[in-house]
Amino acid sequence: MDCLFCKILDGEIPAEVVYEDDQVLAFRDINPQAPFHCLIIPRKHIATLNDIADEDQALVGHMLQAAGTIAKQQGFDESGYRTVFNCNTHGGQTVYHIHLHLLGGKPMGWPPY
Ligand code: 5GP
Repeated sequence: MDCLFCKILDGEIPAEVVYEDDQVLAFRDINPQAPFHCLIIPRKHIATLNDIADEDQALVGHMLQAAGTIAKQQGFDESGYRTVFNCNTHGGQTVYHIHLHLLGGKPMGWPPY
C-alpha cells in the first residue's frame, strides 16, 4: 500500500514525533499553520472518515484524547487549541490515512476559510 503516513509509521520516512502509544503516532506537520501543528494518526490504516467502522470508534476517541494530552504537554490546553479532520476533496484532504490536525500556540479565527 502506497501510503505516506504508513511509511512514517514504519520509519521509512522521517518525522518529528511529539507523542506515541500503542494506538496512535503524532508528529509535527511539515508545513505548520500555527506555532504548534501536529498530526495525530492511528497505527491502523483508515483512508477517510467515511471508512471508520464500528470497531474503530474507540480508536477515534483515543485520537481525540491524545490531542488533549499533547496540548497539555505543549502547555496550551487551558488557553485553547483547534482540532481538524479533513475528508475528501472538498474537505481539503490530501493524505488518505485519517489524521487529526492539532493546532495551537496562538488565537485562531473562525470560520477557517
Ligand atoms: P490534509 O490536507 O490531508 O488534511 O493534511 C495533510 C497534512 O500532511 C498537511 O498539513 C501537510 O502539510 C502534511 N504533510 C504532507 N506530507 C508530509 C510529510 O511528508 N511529513 C509531514 N510531517 N507532514 C506532511
